[in-house]
Order: sequence, then C-alpha cells, then structure tokens
Amino acid sequence: MTDEYNRFPRFLRLLEQRSVLPLAKVFVILVGISLIASDAWMTWNARVSRLKDAQIETSNLAFALAQHAQDTLKKADTILVGLLERLAEEGAGPAQLRRLQQLLGVQVVDLPELQGLFVYDQSGQQRVTSLAAAPSVANHSDREYFIYHREHADRQPHIGLPMRSHSGGDWVIPVSRRLEDAEGQFAGVVLATVAMDYFQRFYSSFELNEKGAIALTLDTGTVLVRQPFQERAIGTNLAASPIFSEYLPKSPVGNARFVSLLDGEARLYSYRHLQGYPLVVTAALSQAEVLTNWRQDAYLQLGVVTLLALLLGLLGFHLIRLIKGGLNVEAQLLAARDTLESLNQRLEKLALEDELTLLANRRRFMAALTDELQRAARYKRSLALIMMDIDYFKQYNDMYGHAEGDQCLRRVAQVIKNGQKRSGDLAARYGGEEFCLLLPETDAAGAQTVAEQIRQALEASQIVHSGSPVGVVTLSAGVHAFVPAGEAEGAAMLMHCADRALYQAKAKGRNQLSVFDVSLFKQRL
Ligand code: GH3
Ligand code: MG
Ligand code: MG
Repeated sequence: MTDEYNRFPRFLRLLEQRSVLPLAKVFVILVGISLIASDAWMTWNARVSRLKDAQIETSNLAFALAQHAQDTLKKADTILVGLLERLAEEGAGPAQLRRLQQLLGVQVVDLPELQGLFVYDQSGQQRVTSLAAAPSVANHSDREYFIYHREHADRQPHIGLPMRSHSGGDWVIPVSRRLEDAEGQFAGVVLATVAMDYFQRFYSSFELNEKGAIALTLDTGTVLVRQPFQERAIGTNLAASPIFSEYLPKSPVGNARFVSLLDGEARLYSYRHLQGYPLVVTAALSQAEVLTNWRQDAYLQLGVVTLLALLLGLLGFHLIRLIKGGLNVEAQLLAARDTLESLNQRLEKLALEDELTLLANRRRFMAALTDELQRAARYKRSLALIMMDIDYFKQYNDMYGHAEGDQCLRRVAQVIKNGQKRSGDLAARYGGEEFCLLLPETDAAGAQTVAEQIRQALEASQIVHSGSPVGVVTLSAGVHAFVPAGEAEGAAMLMHCADRALYQAKAKGRNQLSVFDVSLFKQRL
C-alpha cells in the first residue's frame, strides 16, 4: 500500500517531464527565431538610418548648389540692370556705345563666371559686346531669349535655353533683360552669357559616389549643366521625370527617391527651385552605392547570426535528445522496479498463502496467533480458536483419487473461509486436511456458534462421500477460548486445548464440535 502510494507521484513526475519536451523544442525554435528577427530589425534600422544620412547629404548639397547658382545669376543680372540704367541715362549714340564697350570688356575680365555681355537693338543686330573680337554681324533675332523679350513686356530677367556661343562655340546660359525706349516700346535686349564651364568646374569639385549626379536645369526640365559631364545630356528635357512632373509642382524644395529615367539607377534626390529664377538644382546619390557598406555589414551579420542560430538549434536539440534518452532509461528502470515489486509481492503471498486452498498457510497463522495473543492480553479480551479436521478423508482419497481429494479440500476451505465474519478473523490450512479459524475478541460461546455454522454449512454442501456413514463430507471441530495473561506458552496452550477438544469430537462420533473444558485437560494429565 505504501509502495503504491510512493510510486504514483513519481509516475506523475515522469508525465510532467515528458510534456515539457515539446515545450523545450518550441523554446529552442523561438530563441532561434527571435535571434534572427532582432538581427533583421537592427539591420533594417541601420539601412533606414544610412538612407536618412545620405538624404541629409544630398539636401545640404542642393542647398549649397542653389545658393551658388543664385549668386552667379544675381551677379550677371545686376550687371544687366546697371547696363540698362546706363543706356537709359546716356543714350545709345556711337560715342556712348564705344565707351560702354570698353567698360563691359573690363567687367567681364573680373568675373570668371561671365562669358560675355551683349547689347542688341530691336532688329536683333548686335550693338555692343564685351568680347575682344569685332562685333558679330550675325542677326540674333531668331534666338529664343530675343523672341521672348520681343513678345513679353515683363521686365524680369529671363534665363534662356543653353546654347553654344557664336564667338567661341562654348556652352553658355543666356541671362537677358528687355531693353525699352523712352515710350516703353521694345528697343532690344541686353544679354549676359554665363559660362557653363564655370558651373561645371564648380560642380566637379564635389565628391560624389560613382553613380551620383548634380544637375542644374530650367524649371521646365531642360538640362543646363550636369556633373558628371555628359555632352548629350545638355539641353535634354527631364519634364517627364518625377521631380518635375510630381514633386516640384507640390513644393519648391524637397527630397525624392526613384529610379532615374536616364539610366535606370535608383537614386536619392534633393532638389531646390532657385528664388526668383526659373532654375532648379538637383543633387542625387545612387542608393546602391550609399548602401554598399551597409550591405557588406548586413551580410556579415546575417552570416554570424545564422551560424549562431544554427549552433543554438543543434545544441538545443542535442540536449533535448539527451533528456529524452534519460527519461527513457528512467521509465525502463521504473518498469523493471515495478516488475520486481510485483514478483516480491507474489513471493510474499506464496510465503504466507496455502497454494491449494488459497487460505492463510501455517506460517501466517502462527504469526497471526502470536500477534492476537499479545493484543488480547493487552486489552484483556477473549481469543478463540477453532480446529477442524475432515472426517474419513483417507477413505475419500482412496475412493475418489487424490485429485478429487484436492478438489474436496478446496470446497471445504471455501466453507471455512465463509466462517470469517469480522476483519480480524483468520481462516488457515494448518496441514493436510486440518484447518483452523482464529477469532479475536470472541468467547467460547461465540466460537461455538461459528464452528456449528461451518459444520452445518459443509454438511449442507452435500459433497458426496460414500465412505462416510452420513454419505457426505463432514468435519469435526474442537473449540477453545480464553483471556490470555501474556504468558509465553499461550499459543501452544491454545492450540493444544483446541486440539484436545477436536479429538473429543472425533471420539464422540465425528461430524460435531466439542468445546474444551478443564476436565479434558485433566483427562490428558
Ligand atoms: P479421521 O476421520 O479420523 O480424521 O480419519 P481420516 O481418514 O481423515 O484420517 P487422517 O486424518 O489420519 O487422514 C489424513 C489423510 O488426509 C491422509 C492423507 O491421504 C490425506 N491428505 C493429507 N493431505 C492431503 C492433500 O493435500 N491432498 C489430498 N488429496 N489428501 C491429503
Ligand atoms: Mg487428520
Ligand atoms: Mg481426518
């Protein structure tokens, strides 16, 4: 009973350990996934921050470029305003124009951004130039800036399409203003040509990544200057590019990220519309190049983390396998222990039980007798013993055979076992065809009643025995009860007295019981 009780929690413990195994697997997998997920998150953050830094770079660059372009154009325009004032004040007579020509020549020398200064009359004929060469005889009335001023009355500076100068063939950006007579009628154009080379040299001083680009464009999308320099790019129109079609109409300054129409490269762009001039500067960095270092770091990190997760997984699953193995061994040990215990119990049973009748055997009976004697002595209670012997059993064996004799013993044993009424009662096979029934807390009268009930029950079983005078198997019983005083020879005394009574029953003719009394004891003496 105690053993069973102990084994139960152990069994539960084993169950608990087994249910922990799938949890351990889930834990290992979760740790691996979170390792990779946290790395992916950090890598993504690094990418976002690198792109943000690059966008700040392009934004600062666009600001510097816009400032530079604005200053350059402002300078050219300021000269044009001065020129207009001088013409208005001094008139355009031959002498004035000659003086003007000298003045312009001096101004251009001081300003490297200016390629030349020109004055055209209303027919497009060149009247004055800063250039050292003789004034061109060519007519300029077909030039875009000339047509613009002839047809627009506004007095704002006009930035024209880039063009090759007639004088040197270099690319220039024309900055012009309308010349009016005293009546406000169109009287010609004053023109300053800004050398594109000036911008080109300035732009080439910036270090861009290989696929980065800087551009100065008209706000209609026409390219004026591009770094890296591409001859074919000058004059092309980028109106379809998202900066001009999408971003610029919304805001004069901004950042953008898209794939270039020109070369299919994804870039980070910053653009800025110049204040007061129809020009836009754009600075761009290639996204792939911006992310080069990040990508190398990310690959390295990914490799290391994947390796770590892999090692963790291998180690984790190896540990789980080891635990599982340990649990299996423990389960086998427990099973072996259970088998051993049940074998022990079987042996114990065999040692205390009569194999044929399954009643208590003589050894168990003797042990119980000793215990009950002590208990009866302690509580001053009566202890009774019934000794029984089958009548004419030798004949039974002789007539029906030994096997039938055994069967008969089993049936008699069952009848005697039914005589056990209380938990302390113990029926036992004392030996051969002799049986005992130990009855604690029972006096002689009580024991006599039980013995009689057994005798009657056996008789009523009607086990045919033609060798017996009554024709059925019967038994004789000897009864004795006493209150032991704790003396050592109590057991022998009780058995002896019951035995004496049994003999008396036999002597009186069998199939009956006899209760011991002192006269019997005296008889023996
Ligand atoms: P009585 O009425 O005086 O008791 O006569 P009886 O024939 O029973 O005489 P006794 O008690 O001397 O006989 C015991 C017989 O019981 C002897 C033996 O053959 C038989 N016997 C003892 N043990 C066993 C057993 O385990 N199986 C079988 N079949 N017979 C047994
Ligand atoms: Mg006998
Ligand atoms: Mg007998």
